[in-house]
Amino acid sequence: MSRIAYVNGRYISHLDAAVHIDDRGYQFADGVYEVIAVHNGQLVDADRHMKRLERSLRELRIDPPMGDAALVHVMQETIRRNTVRNGIVYLQITRGIAPRDHKFPKNAVPSVVVTAKRTKPMADTHIEKGVSVITIPDIRWLRRDIKSISLLPNCLGKQQAAEAGAFEAWMVDSDGYITEGTSTNAWIIDAKGVLRTRKATHVILNGITRMALVDIAASQGIPFDEKPFTIDEAKDAREAFISSTGVFVLPVTSIDKSMVGKGTPGPVAKALRQAYIAQFTPTHAV
Ligand code: PMP
Repeated sequence: MSRIAYVNGRYISHLDAAVHIDDRGYQFADGVYEVIAVHNGQLVDADRHMKRLERSLRELRIDPPMGDAALVHVMQETIRRNTVRNGIVYLQITRGIAPRDHKFPKNAVPSVVVTAKRTKPMADTHIEKGVSVITIPDIRWLRRDIKSISLLPNCLGKQQAAEAGAFEAWMVDSDGYITEGTSTNAWIIDAKGVLRTRKATHVILNGITRMALVDIAASQGIPFDEKPFTIDEAKDAREAFISSTGVFVLPVTSIDKSMVGKGTPGPVAKALRQAYIAQFTPTHAV
């Protein structure tokens, strides 16, 4: 079956889907996006994704192209037309098409693209053995809270990780503290047993999975502190893990080739993964 994409009001063949070369997304990365998990044909945690999308648009002063309900409808229709049961939906909104000029255009109409695809379940070895990360300097701009389509530093970091045989790169700020992964949030259970992740200020993207895990940790009474951690603290941690829409919770067992804890996934990461799956994707294999 051929894939279908939604582009500016039309459902068309994915092969023919295109935007104009003067789209400001193409010219300036002037746009935002969301990636939402699909489980049993349903959007996972859609409300929180829509809230983050609205915020990203507001921060960049891009007019919402349609109401929330209409956008959700377009995503559901794209899921249906692509017969996706388990996978992801990708939604991108740019400021629209205008002659190339850095200033905002007066009357541009935002461009909307939605795609949906099936994804394979996470490899068992990643879940059972954990994954490795490298650390790299965080060279991004200072509004990482906006889910902007400008992802070049993230791409460079992920490529560097892949070339080093690692799953992810953790980015480190100029004070030596880890901010987050190139497409995931970074967490540790520190030497004292406290669950830690960076506070959601302008320096990280506030992951939807991160928000869900903060709630789960509170409901399970897990000691938690939004306190930044250094590379050394992460290497000395009992456990480490990453979180995102794509990986849920994935244990990290090596940082810059240094073993974390016993070098195997720890109990807190396992418990959080199970609780997340039970709440959001109940028929998913743990
Ligand atoms: N940080 C960055 C830089 C990301 O790109 C992502 C993935 N969108 C995340 C964190 C995790 O966010 P979420 O849980 O919403 O997928």
